[in-house]
Amino acid sequence: MLTEKTMDVAIIGAGPGGSAVAMGLKNSGLQVVLIDESNFPREKICGDAIPSWVLTDLEPYCAAIHETFLETMKPGIFSSTSMLLSNGQKLNFKWGKPGYMIPRLQFDNFLLDQVLASGKIRFFGGEKISKVHKLDSGYELFNSEGKLLLRCRVLIGADGASSLVAKSVSARGSKSRSAGHAVRAYYKNVNLESSDTSMVFFDKAFSPGYFWIFPLPDNRANVGFGMPNTSRLKRNIKLTKASEEFIKSNDSVTRILKSAESEGPFKGGILPFAGKWKPLAGLDYILVGDAANLLDPFSGDGIRNAVRSGLFAAETILNAFQTGKLNPDLLKAYESLIKKHLWPQLKQRAKLVKWVGRLPWLVPFVIRIGNVGIVSRWLKTWL
Ligand SMILES: Cc1cc2nc3c(=O)[nH]c(=O)nc-3n(C[C@H](O)[C@H](O)[C@H](O)COP(=O)(O)OP(=O)(O)OC[C@H]3O[C@@H](n4cnc5c(N)ncnc54)[C@H](O)[C@@H]3O)c2cc1C
Repeated sequence: MLTEKTMDVAIIGAGPGGSAVAMGLKNSGLQVVLIDESNFPREKICGDAIPSWVLTDLEPYCAAIHETFLETMKPGIFSSTSMLLSNGQKLNFKWGKPGYMIPRLQFDNFLLDQVLASGKIRFFGGEKISKVHKLDSGYELFNSEGKLLLRCRVLIGADGASSLVAKSVSARGSKSRSAGHAVRAYYKNVNLESSDTSMVFFDKAFSPGYFWIFPLPDNRANVGFGMPNTSRLKRNIKLTKASEEFIKSNDSVTRILKSAESEGPFKGGILPFAGKWKPLAGLDYILVGDAANLLDPFSGDGIRNAVRSGLFAAETILNAFQTGKLNPDLLKAYESLIKKHLWPQLKQRAKLVKWVGRLPWLVPFVIRIGNVGIVSRWLKTWL
């Protein structure tokens, strides 16, 4: 317990967003505490596809993190993605930079280890924050037993899609936060054509959602399906049932998983897509990652934006504390960084999802003509 003193910064959530904030602050001289309800390593329901940019973004704050990651974690590496239609038509897409495949159980633990190796960040694992109480200046945080855990001057909500911090400190309702859902399961003995190609399957019946098979090392795969809530609820689609049916009915998927064994049931999670702009920072709080609804509405990816927003939050906090006294404009500067660097693309991609939902022929059409030079160049900027 740290009730006797007020920490400068308390970060709730040690996923990629929270770890990025901590990494950005580890040499600041500020008193920083990172809190997670889970003890690490902990499972996180995800497709486990990590853009290599995530490690590149962290390099300036953690020397050689990219090399260390590759050497110690030995992730799967994918350099292309195949987009497939139910009739077998496909478009192969080569990425400029490879992506990594590694279960979040290991990836998030790796990031946290890098943070804690500095010896400058205090970490409380297995400590769920159940209440956030606003003080005239800063916050009091209470644990699941209702006991005061600590006080802080600045609070960071990095507590994911069901963020308690977002609900407590800002005017965001919980309803508007869950814009999509997805499920995933692990399979072993998977018969993939290529271990460095992630596969995405489209079917008119599930548009604008998609089904995926992402290869993991040792012939394992992360298999999943996700969809925006509006389309899913309108058509009363149950994600797990739809996934099981898809595995049976889609010839390509059936072939790949024919001799595969499921390692456990499909498990689900929320996709808090970026939608309408809502406040992300105030006098003494900042929301990052899924807690700030920064998930890409087109791909469902959220790890890179969690890390980028976490680093923007750290940069903002450093500037704010340098001026001595916090004032309302200082942390609001974080919103300007998000609006400048992340928001324009997120907005465009939200529009694209709407079009894909309205025009079921669009994805099949793009897959058919995707190899034509101009379309392929356009896709490179979008995917
Ligand atoms: C099925 C599925 C597949 C996905 N696939 C991909 C993918 O392949 N690639 C990709 O980039 N993105 C993917 N995403 C999105 C990605 O998982 C998130 O965007 C990413 O995890 C966001 O990181 P974060 O740090 O903001 O939150 P999280 O990773 O959710 O971390 C939040 C942390 O906060 C802790 N916490 C929560 N509440 C409390 C509390 N009250 N007290 C203390 N601690 C708390 C949690 O234990 C957790 O560790 C997927 C999501 C889903 C649901």
